[in-house]
Amino acid sequence: MTTTICVIGAGRMGSSLARTLLNAGRPTWVWNRTAARCAPLVALGAKTANALADAVQASELILINVIDHDASAALLRQEAVSSALSGRTVIQLTSGSARLAREEALWVEAQGARYLDGAIMATPDFIGRPEAALLYSGSLASFEAHRDILLTLGGRSAHVGDVPGQASALDTALLTQMWGGLFGALQGMAVADAEGLSLDVFRDQLSAFKPVVDAALYDTIDRTAARRFAGDAETLASLGAHHSAFTHLLEACEDQGLDQGLPREMARLFREGLSRNGPEADFASLAPLLRGGPSSEAGEVRPDA
Ligand code: NAP
Repeated sequence: MTTTICVIGAGRMGSSLARTLLNAGRPTWVWNRTAARCAPLVALGAKTANALADAVQASELILINVIDHDASAALLRQEAVSSALSGRTVIQLTSGSARLAREEALWVEAQGARYLDGAIMATPDFIGRPEAALLYSGSLASFEAHRDILLTLGGRSAHVGDVPGQASALDTALLTQMWGGLFGALQGMAVADAEGLSLDVFRDQLSAFKPVVDAALYDTIDRTAARRFAGDAETLASLGAHHSAFTHLLEACEDQGLDQGLPREMARLFREGLSRNGPEADFASLAPLLRGGPSSEAGEVRPDA
């Protein structure tokens, strides 16, 4: 039996989701607060309704993509809509936090519906492409039941955990890594620019350096997963060696009057790591410090750990 889908929200992302489903021949309803934004989708074969509850009633799979969880909750918690949810699967593709996803899962399930949390790791132009990843968490059975549809939206889509908030948490974790790199690039450009280097040179050499940086990044993740924090024969650069090079950033900021906010926070982590574990530890030994909590939980690295 062909699943009828309702896409709630026809903004940039919602329209791209609906268009992709329509192009794949999926029966699709669309509903948007501003009805005019549904017109191009109706021209592609979508059905629409004046009342959201009617579009939900006509569908088995409900995809939500509006600006935020408050807007989504205001739509879903109307009496006519919430009572139409029973027996359906709701997939929340609006960006949100892990906590919001956990709360919403409880509410949706209390309406007699199934819930999957989703996180879209793509811009609208990537939707429907083999390399696009949309992450899902919550019931694996619900993911499997709609796997074909979900893979239509992005070929690298995956179920990443049984707990509803995990897809949103992974979204935040991946974006955190991106912001680290982007803020690092801003700081690096300031350092290069202050010494008269062109940003073209910075860009070229960043590209040449990238394989080295990528290898260090994955090495740090692998070592943290294995808790191989002590320096050993495979350590790429010890904490002491990293710190020695890092002091040049502090010096550049001081000499050139650059913003010192980020380097100071990094310096604090270096100091704490060096005082706990010494210069021979691996860079990954800083990982427990980011977990916070009482200092005993951050742990010390013994050479034989
Ligand atoms: P957008 O183009 O600004 O569209 C926003 C959508 O939310 C529109 O359908 C809008 O309806 C609706 N909306 C806003 N306030 C509302 C309210 N109070 N009640 C009901 N509907 C309301 O934004 P977007 O780029 O599509 O983003 C939508 C979601 O996808 C966001 O959670 C965003 O974080 C996420 N996302 C976007 C991207 C991206 O690259 N764009 C990537 C990943 C995730 P109207 O047309 O009536 O204003």
